[in-house]
Amino acid sequence: MRSFSQRTAQITARWRGLSFGVRAEDTATQVRKTVQVNAGVWIMIGTVLIFNGLFALIGNEALILSGLWQWPVLLVAPLVWWLNAQRYTRAARWALILLAMVDCLLAVAGGQGTASMVHVYFLLFAVLTPILFAVEEWPATLILVTTNLAIFLGLELLQWPPHPAMALLDPFTKKLLIQSMVVSSVLVLIMMSLLTEIAAADNENRLIRLADTDPLTGLPNRRQFRQALEAEMSRMTREGGSLVLGVFDLDHFKRVNDEWGHDAGDQALVHIAKVVQHQLRAYDLVARTGGEEFVLLLPQTDLAEAQAVVERIRHAVMSAPFSYGEQSRVITVSVGLALVTDAALMDQRLRQADEAMYQAKHEGRNRVCCAP
Ligand code: GH3
Ligand code: MG
Ligand code: MG
Repeated sequence: MRSFSQRTAQITARWRGLSFGVRAEDTATQVRKTVQVNAGVWIMIGTVLIFNGLFALIGNEALILSGLWQWPVLLVAPLVWWLNAQRYTRAARWALILLAMVDCLLAVAGGQGTASMVHVYFLLFAVLTPILFAVEEWPATLILVTTNLAIFLGLELLQWPPHPAMALLDPFTKKLLIQSMVVSSVLVLIMMSLLTEIAAADNENRLIRLADTDPLTGLPNRRQFRQALEAEMSRMTREGGSLVLGVFDLDHFKRVNDEWGHDAGDQALVHIAKVVQHQLRAYDLVARTGGEEFVLLLPQTDLAEAQAVVERIRHAVMSAPFSYGEQSRVITVSVGLALVTDAALMDQRLRQADEAMYQAKHEGRNRVCCAP
């Protein structure tokens, strides 16, 4: 199984710089929330800075003033990262939303009033709350959504008078300002949704890998083998050709367990899996389908070619003794092969490959037998 440290490495590689507070044992949802809150701080700082620049360009006193009023929030915002880094993730979520709300109120009170529509941001906060908070934190979500909607409606209905200098804005600039408020809040929402989507896709891939992989050897498991088999069956039905199925089993493997212990047995399985995988062609598949039983899928192959591949595998396994501590021993495999030329007979041929493997055992092991 992939270790915690490997998983952390994967998370931090994916979310470089946004993973403060993420821990290896976190669920996918916890990771996503933490990353989103960390990203939210960047987005808030970026948005305030961009608007400050825009206000300076426009050169209107009311706008510049309202921009400056937001600076204290900018300076406090990195506190949210600190909270996440200290594992106060719930406090970090609250802090982000509350800081954003205070920031918006300061913009309103600091000069813009409701004239620039900066209060549409309260609608954004209402939408972002259920994204940032976990489902089980619904009371927090309920409070914040209601409060933000109420503030938006209150400001919209009652209006907040802007600083007198706002009256000096020409109608075009004023229109542009209002539209940039709306567009920027939609952009923030798009960024947050994208983060959610990327994290969800990441998680889905991780789960598929887990479901398809044998945890001990990292080889495909029976499920993935079945899928590959079905894909090959439909390819064969369409295009014809042949493939070869193989079943192999380690010889006298019980002795490894009996003499060296189960842990040695596990390591021997990992060792054999590596050796076999190394011998396969790019389009071949080896899967672990049982304790010490493996299957081979050799597509677009005739029996002679398959025998050559499998003999190579058998030799490689025999020539790479398994070492455990100071000790070392030669492990061998018995293999059964079956040629498949009719997709409909796939399962029957797999059983016959298994019987051929038992024949190889009876004939003395460490050999390859082919089903008639
Ligand atoms: P043969 O040549 O006839 O196959 O002899 P064998 O000893 O390999 O066959 P048998 O089926 O009697 O024993 C298989 C052993 O494989 C028994 C079981 O303890 C061991 N085994 C199966 N799965 C695992 C595993 O995941 N880890 C370890 N360590 N041992 C396993
Ligand atoms: Mg065995
Ligand atoms: Mg067995």
